[in-house]
Amino acid sequence: MLRTRCAALSITLDFKQVQRLHAYLELLLQQRGRINLTGIRDPAQAERLLLLESIATVLAAPRLRAAPGDNTGLRLLDVGTGGGIPGIPLAIAFPHVAVTLLEATRKKVDFLQHVVASFALENVTALWGRAEDLAHVAEHRAHYDVVTVRGVGSLATVAELALPFCKRGVMLVAYKSLPLDTELQEASHAIHALGGRNPRVTPFNLPELPAQHCLVTVEKSTVTPEQYPRRAGLPARRPLAKR
Ligand code: SAH
Repeated sequence: MLRTRCAALSITLDFKQVQRLHAYLELLLQQRGRINLTGIRDPAQAERLLLLESIATVLAAPRLRAAPGDNTGLRLLDVGTGGGIPGIPLAIAFPHVAVTLLEATRKKVDFLQHVVASFALENVTALWGRAEDLAHVAEHRAHYDVVTVRGVGSLATVAELALPFCKRGVMLVAYKSLPLDTELQEASHAIHALGGRNPRVTPFNLPELPAQHCLVTVEKSTVTPEQYPRRAGLPARRPLAKR
């Protein structure tokens, strides 16, 4: 399924990449009970919702798929990566992209480092920390070409956690379910306050994925003001809203 569907999306996966993707998934499902890496148990469902959905990020971020020559140095950050979704499948499918995984829970970072070592993923770095802290570190702020964030919170929260990491002119990608009207409306103030604009919804429209699953992209148009993100916990507890 994976190879055929990816080919239809113009992504060529060789045998070794498909093997690695499945080996990673097996490890993730094996360890899931121990450290709560994913709620999904069924391997076929995991293949669709974790591997395919991650790789299908290209539908909203076509830069990922460009020829390796054009892509030298493309940097992707996955905020709140958990067990590595979508960052690890993206790193395996697009080995020319430098992927940084950010995760707040130490045990999950240990798992990610084990995955990186086991599969010799040279283009992946796993970092232990909180987005609220790392976004104020000069070498990470406004440093990434694509920032992904899946399952971490509402769009307003996600905008505060992820937009500070985006370079100007690039975008953040969030994984969501329709309908999103209220959530988009509630995030509108946060997106603008953080230097973002033009949120867009791209449904996956793939027969293997639930019809309501979609990608939300937000363009980074201006520099994020220095005070954001606020201190750890606030973006989730008190999302930015007009008062
Ligand atoms: N992206 C993964 C995991 C989603 S669960 C997936 O889709 O399967 C959300 C993860 O984000 C958790 O592992 C949690 O520890 C992490 N997280 C939540 N807030 C965070 C923050 N502020 N900084 C870094 N990681 C965070």
